[in-house]
Formats: sequence, C-alpha cells, structure tokens
Amino acid sequence: MARSHNFSAGPSALPTEVLQEARDEFFDFSGSGMSVMEISHRSELFMALAYQAEQDLRAILDVPKHYKVLFLHGGASMQFSQVPMNLLRGKGTADYLHTGLWSGKAVEAARRYCDVRVVGSGEPWGFDRIPGAAEWHLNPDAAYLHYTENETVHGVQFAAAPTPEVPLVCDACSSLLSKPINVARHGLIYAAAQKNIGAAGVTVVIVDEALLGGALPMTPDILNYARLARAESMLNTPATFSWYLTGLMLRWILRQGGIRPVHQANLAKARLLYGAIDGSGGFYVNKVQPAFRSINNVPFTMACPVLEKSFLRLADLSGFKGLKGHAAVGGIRASIYNAVTLASVEALVAFMQDFQSRHG
Ligand SMILES: *Cc1c(COP(=O)(O)O)cnc(C)c1O
Repeated sequence: MARSHNFSAGPSALPTEVLQEARDEFFDFSGSGMSVMEISHRSELFMALAYQAEQDLRAILDVPKHYKVLFLHGGASMQFSQVPMNLLRGKGTADYLHTGLWSGKAVEAARRYCDVRVVGSGEPWGFDRIPGAAEWHLNPDAAYLHYTENETVHGVQFAAAPTPEVPLVCDACSSLLSKPINVARHGLIYAAAQKNIGAAGVTVVIVDEALLGGALPMTPDILNYARLARAESMLNTPATFSWYLTGLMLRWILRQGGIRPVHQANLAKARLLYGAIDGSGGFYVNKVQPAFRSINNVPFTMACPVLEKSFLRLADLSGFKGLKGHAAVGGIRASIYNAVTLASVEALVAFMQDFQSRHG
C-alpha cells in the first residue's frame, strides 16, 4: 500500500498506525459486532471510550482538575463566537492579538458580541513576526485576551505564551498536542481535531471552570460551555467517529512517550525543512523572522509564480501532496503536523534540492 507524503494543512495526515487500528475494528468495535459509528453515544462502550480520551488528554497536557475538557461540534470557527458568548461575563470588551489570517477571523466574529480591542498587530510587518509584548496595549478591564498560538496560513508562532492579568484564551487549532502548553496559565484553549489531533468533526475545548456560568442570555444551550460541561459534551449527539479517532491519536501520542518526545520530533522536522530553505541561496524563501517560525506550517515562496506552479505540479506527480499555499497568501506551504514523519520531510527536502538543481 503506497501512502503519499501528505503535507496538507487540514484535514491532514494521520499516522498509518492509527488508520490501521481504525480499519481493524471498523466493523467490530471492542467485540460488540458493531462499528463504533453504529453504537449509541450513551452506550457503556462509547462512554468508556469518551472517558478514556479525556483521561489521556488530561495526562498528556497535565490538565489541572479544575478545568473542564469538552469535545464539541463546529470546528475552531465556532469557537470564534462561542468564546465571547460565554466568557464576556458581563464585561463589554475583550482584547485580541492580530497576528495573521486566523486571528483576524476571530476578531471579526467577536465584534458581534463586544467591543473588540486589537491590542497588538503583526499587520504592519506583513505578519512576519509576533509583535513584542512591550508594544501591546492591554486593557485591565478586558474580559480576556485572545491569541492564536500558531498562525496556520502565515506560518508564525508565539515563542512564549502571553502573560496578561486577565484570563488568557488560546486558539491552538494547529498546534495543540504538537508541543507542551501550560494549561494552568490559560482560561481557555481550543483546537479542532483535523490538524494534530485526529479527524475533522470534533473540537477540543479546555476551560477553567471558574470562568463558566456567565454566558450571554441569548446563548443557545448547545453553545453554552457550562451546560455542555454538565452534560459531558453530550447535550446532543456528538461527533462519535471523530471523537473515537481522537482517542486513537491520544493513545498514539502516549506510545511515542508523551508530548515531549512528540515535540522533539516536530522540532527536528522543522529544523530540517527551514535549514533546506535557508540553505538554498534564496531559491526558496521563508520570510518569517526565525524566532517566530512555526514548527507546524512552513510557508515558502520562489522567485516567480510560474516556477512555483511547476514545482507544485511536479511535487504532486512525485507523491508530495497538499503543498499549495493558502489562497490568501499563495506560494507553497508544507504542514508538518504530528503524523508527518521525518522520512517524509527528508524526502521533500531531497525533492526540493533536486528541483533546484534542474531549475536554479
Ligand atoms: C484551521 C484553523 C481554524 C479553523 O478551523 P475549523 O475547524 O475549520 O473551523 C482556526 N484557527 C486556526 C489557527 C486554524 O489553523
């Protein structure tokens, strides 16, 4: 069975091992004679799976007891609205850091619910860096500070989490479970599964229970964290198959030795790829300042669009998939999430060098 080198930004590569496990029990989950997709979310079998996934996530990220772990619908984009609906708690303003395309979307969504203050922005620099904390204008009366840990499109990542006085909210959609994160320093962290965690359909939310209970009155129950937490994310039918796959992915991370070895492996892949780009004498260019380069998404450009087009065409024919840059920025982007192997990155680097020797 030939597997492609998959550099897609999301939905993205899953470990072959995880796919094999899912295949092996596809028709018969845990000896039940039914697929995991065919059983009730309220059945003992599914409840056990859900419980185990939560315990594994708590163990991997060292989640303190007073945090709720939710498995929700709607993707990270739903959180752009669900966060202000639930966390304004009677306040009229929230602070946002604008560091690329995704945080820009979070800002736009939140404007419906409150006075959004963009307290720091990378826009003047074309999002090639995270503006320094000394330049932020934080408001002590803000309900929370929102930041996007890793900007999936622009390829910029925070070197360290902000440390505001107010609760800290993190869009970790493309980086959760790819590196350690200090949960206790955050009020809320969210991530859709389809980048580092599993398959599309489920979104992980980790929230300090002290922040719950003050949702806007118009908030539907189905978007109310407090009610969802009380119902263990089962106010309605959850995305059972995606939840199950996330469980398999969490087990896979544990088998790697946990978050630290996974992070080390991700660092090694990033070092190799950035090294190849920087060592190409300008044939390939990543313009992000080195301190803020993403270990998850590596965008790069070439001298002209025609060259990029032939690179992408030849890459595709050679088994390298998902390398086209996001439409908003163009160019090329290699997403090197948890499931992308070092061997795949080595093969990509060899392909890039070969391409350069023919066209450089
Ligand atoms: C992919 C992504 C989103 C959007 O996720 P959806 O599940 O498609 O809504 C939001 N933020 C970041 C940082 C992302 O990478």
